[in-house]
Amino acid sequence: MINKLQMHIGLDDTDSTRRGCTTYIAALLVEKLEKLKVKFVDYPNLVRLNPNVPWKTRGNGALCLRIEYEKEIEEEIEETTLGLVKKHADLEFENTNPGIVFFKKGNIPTEICAFAKKAITGIANLGEAKELLERCSGKALGFNNCRGIIGGLAAIGETLKGDHTFELIAYRLQENYGSKRKVDKTSIFEMDQATKPQTFNNVDSEKNRVIITPHGPDPILLGIRGETPEIVRKAFEMVKLKEPVERWIIFRTNQGTDSHFGEIAPIQKIVPYTPMVAEGTVSKSPWIVPLRHVFFSLKDITGEIDCAAYEPTGSLRKVARSLVVGDKIRVYGGLRRRSENKPLTLNLEKIRIIELAKKTRYQNPLCPKCLKRLKSMGKNKGYRCENCKLRFKGLKKIPVEIERKTKLGLCVTSPRSQRHLTKPLRRYGLEKHHFEVASPTVKWHSFWHH
Ligand code: ATP
Repeated sequence: MINKLQMHIGLDDTDSTRRGCTTYIAALLVEKLEKLKVKFVDYPNLVRLNPNVPWKTRGNGALCLRIEYEKEIEEEIEETTLGLVKKHADLEFENTNPGIVFFKKGNIPTEICAFAKKAITGIANLGEAKELLERCSGKALGFNNCRGIIGGLAAIGETLKGDHTFELIAYRLQENYGSKRKVDKTSIFEMDQATKPQTFNNVDSEKNRVIITPHGPDPILLGIRGETPEIVRKAFEMVKLKEPVERWIIFRTNQGTDSHFGEIAPIQKIVPYTPMVAEGTVSKSPWIVPLRHVFFSLKDITGEIDCAAYEPTGSLRKVARSLVVGDKIRVYGGLRRRSENKPLTLNLEKIRIIELAKKTRYQNPLCPKCLKRLKSMGKNKGYRCENCKLRFKGLKKIPVEIERKTKLGLCVTSPRSQRHLTKPLRRYGLEKHHFEVASPTVKWHSFWHH
């Protein structure tokens, strides 16, 4: 069609811990753009970036809308986007640095895709983003320190051509912000049973807890994650809502895909605030620190690192606790410093147990005469038989192998403590390898109340 142009709009860092949510601004923008008669060439994309970035607000999410439009409304699209960000972003908040990026070409240059990969798997920087935008003729608007331009550009560059999932997010009426979310708990457990494994992270069965509803003052009532737009919609219809919904919308995302993890890396090559996969043997037995967190050390041929399974990791913490020196494992997590001047610790998201070492305990030897277990007379002082009243010097303790209850294979942190990007067990085997980007075919949003 003549005059049809394509634009990708990237948004990030509009919210703060006290209010807002960038997904909500994206949802408002969808409504406004529809009124301008643009065509959406993909579901709105919700792209999670490196979860270990210290300056994130919550889940390090960035947004991208991909549209087709006519030249005459180009300026109006940009002004509408800017207007919404100005109106809804928490600009007075110190750590809110919104970024809007417009990229007006159909195909995304590979350099921008590579930048997105870096922002998901590592640390990117603003200078690099600005340089790239200039080289590729993109346009960016930033507020405060403008850091949101990083996420805005990264969201444009992650075209989700490989594995991806969907999330339906429903928003509350403004008058209900800050109050307890009213959604029927039983219906969520029923929905989970009826839609599994096509939906994930609805509940945490270890704690009998619902996890589709957040707790903060933000506008989100709930978010349902799943493999297809149809299933998240169906699941939403099964949930009994006890408060009105202002609007709902389905995003295509990299959540639950493990896209933050790269190949196995040598321990020596650790980089602060990045995700890492390492493989080696347990070199220091687990120890417990206050608040029930479990630590152990892992080493490969290049170095050694402390790994941490914090209390909320639930089943993962239990597995970490059962490890013994010599176990061969692969670990997945994020590198953080426990405190300044302390070495980096790998905060665990997953452990794959590859090989279990033998676990032994030592028993006193048996009496050579009557076969009764001997009593020790103290360190290096020999043994005595209470039955025969004989004493034995040169005998040694006997190693006995203990049966290991730990299972080989993968253990993932409990749903309540999973990162948005962590692939949950339920998704293994459901990965998508290809996606032909196309306009949404099913009903993917609804605006109910204004
Ligand atoms: P929410 O999930 O509630 O929308 P958030 O957790 O996404 O909030 P933001 O407020 O968006 O947090 O803050 C993250 C900031 O960090 C953004 O400015 C983003 O551009 C920047 N950022 C994200 N990933 C990286 C990265 N890998 N390297 C450098 N900066 C990054």
